Amino acid sequence: MVGKGMEIFFSPVESAHQKRERAKARELRQSQWWRQQLGQGKCYYCGEKFAAADLTMDHKVPIVRGGKSTKKNVVVACRSCNQEKKYFLPGEQALLTPSENHDESGVERFDQDLE
Ligand SMILES: [Zn+2]
Repeated sequence: MVGKGMEIFFSPVESAHQKRERAKARELRQSQWWRQQLGQGKCYYCGEKFAAADLTMDHKVPIVRGGKSTKKNVVVACRSCNQEKKYFLPGEQALLTPSENHDESGVERFDQDLE
């Protein structure tokens, strides 16, 4: 059991990707489009209404799993949903994330120690 790669079960994306997508997320947060999303005030996951201040940007496919900061991949989530999402079972997670990028074999290994 030596060598790199043995200890991980899904391929973590390169940090360049993470950096880039986090920067894009910041930009997206400044956008008119995002303000509109916040203005609707509805959490993507629980469907409840919230004040903009209580809403966060959530990546359906987390950046660490190869998700991108695109309008398709970011949703408005209330704080509690955003936090709970980390603990979703893989099956539930899969329902919410019709994936374009991450590979299914990685789904059951969570990203909990990466974020
Ligand atoms: Zn919610």
